This record gives sequence, structure tokens and C-alpha cells, in this order.
Amino acid sequence: KPIQIAIDGPASAGKSTIAKIIAQDLGYVYVDTGAMYRAATLAVLKAQIDPQDEQAVSQLVPKLVVTFAPGEDQQEVFLDGQNVTAAIRSQAVVEHVSVVAAYQTVRQVMTAKQRELAQSTNVVMDGRDIGTTVLPQAQVKIFLVASVKERAERRYKENQAKGINQTETLAELETAIKERDYLDSHRALSPLKQAQDAVKLDTTGLTIDQVVAKAKALIAE
Ligand code: C5P
Repeated sequence: KPIQIAIDGPASAGKSTIAKIIAQDLGYVYVDTGAMYRAATLAVLKAQIDPQDEQAVSQLVPKLVVTFAPGEDQQEVFLDGQNVTAAIRSQAVVEHVSVVAAYQTVRQVMTAKQRELAQSTNVVMDGRDIGTTVLPQAQVKIFLVASVKERAERRYKENQAKGINQTETLAELETAIKERDYLDSHRALSPLKQAQDAVKLDTTGLTIDQVVAKAKALIAE
């Protein structure tokens, strides 16, 4: 039976950073479920569909093919064969992703794909509802949190390091993160929530190495 490690938590808590390192260490497949919702949102915007138009979004999303491939220093994301790794990180996508991700059809399609990915191979999967909904039988469940101030600072520095031209101030970034967390945790379907059997890990003030060490200790238990 494949091993499933679920890493959930609010935006920019370090989920993907930690999940990637752990997956590489263990030789498991890393699945970034946020990237799947982002790719769907990008497709909606590209098709010039209003993200508020649930019916139009629900007609488009089941037709999309979102795949992953290992890249040079990061996992590459493809939408209908096109590399969208950078495009799914745009501000336009971030602004609309929580609305698109709240729709029933979108969640059904994505959840089914995610379960399929975890069926045949060991995975480290990060998202919002992995421990509660997608993989409720996961052997390890970690809920990563950090103060909103620190999450905004990390995102700001990360964008700087990547050479991204930042149009948002640190305060605006903090507001945007709070808004997205609010929407993600207040939607009707599989909201962002700590699973009852998940272990909460507060990464405020911790380095990546320290968080990885704590996560590994939990996995080894
Ligand atoms: O993790 P990331 O910030 O890339 O996720 C982008 C968005 O996708 C989240 O804000 C949320 O709206 C949605 N999402 C979700 N369920 C998941 C993963 C992401 O609804 N499992």
C-alpha cells in the first residue's frame, strides 16, 4: 500500500518548500495541489471566462489536462501540454484562485486527479484539504502554520530572490494572504482546516532546516 504524507496549511506557510525537500529525501513523488487549482484558474482567465461564472468555469475545467514533470530546480507544471510554471504564480491568478477553487465541479475534478496520483506511488501532497478530504487515510498529516507577518515577509523575500517585479508592498501582500486564507477557510466545500489527526507545526521563527527536521521526526514516528 503506497505511503501518503499530507501537508496542509494556510498560504505561504512553507508547505511546498518543506514538501519538496521531504519528497526528494524519501524518493516520493511530490504533488503540489495548489498548482492544479492555479492552472485551472489560469485556463479560466485565458479563455476570458469570468471567474464568478460558476457554470462557464464548470464546463471548462473538466476538459483541462494538468500534468507535472521534474524540472531543473523545480517541478514544472503543464496545462494542456503548455508549460505554465511561471504563469500560475501571477498576481491575476492569485486574485481569482480561491473563487475558482470553491466550485463543486472544480473540487471534484481536482480531488479525483489527486487521489489517482496517490494510488500507485508514495506521495508527499501539499494543499488545504489533503488530510481532511483528499487522502483521509494518509499515514502522516502535518498542518503547517506561521504568523501572517512572517508569511508575507517570506513571500516578499522569495519574490525578490526570483527577480520578480513586485507591484505589491509588504503590507499589501499581508492583506492578500489574509483574504485568501479567509476565503479558503470559509468556503462550503472542503475548507482549509486542520484534520483531527494532523500534527500542527508552527514554523514562525524557524529555519527551513529546523522545520524539515521536525517534519522528519514526525514521519519517523
Ligand atoms: O498552495 P497555493 O497557494 O498554491 O494554492 C492556491 C489556491 O488553491 C489556494 O489559495 C486555494 O484557494 C486553492 N487550493 C485548494 N485546495 C488545495 C490546494 C489549493 O482549494 N488542496
